[in-house]
Amino acid sequence: MFAVPFMFSWAYRLAMSFKRVATAGDLVRFHASLRIECGDCHAAQTLGAMEVVTRCGTGSLDRIRKRLVCARCGRKAARLIVLPPV
Ligand SMILES: [Zn+2]
Repeated sequence: MFAVPFMFSWAYRLAMSFKRVATAGDLVRFHASLRIECGDCHAAQTLGAMEVVTRCGTGSLDRIRKRLVCARCGRKAARLIVLPPV
C-alpha cells in the first residue's frame, strides 16, 4: 500500500484541472491568466482572461497560439502558459 501525502494529491488535482483549460472561454471560467512567451526572442506578455477573449475570442488556445505573431520579432513562435488565479 502507498500513502499519498496530502500536499501531493492537492497539487496533482490542481495541475489536472488546469490541464483542462483548452479554450479562452475556459480561462474565464477558471479565472486564470495567460502568459504568452515568444520562443524566438523571449518577449513575454501576460494577459488576463478577459483581455484574451476581447482580442482573440473564446476559441481554442491552440488555434489562438497559431495566430499569434510576436510584436518584437514578428515570428510565430508563441508559447502559451496558463497561470492560476492569484
Ligand atoms: Zn519574438
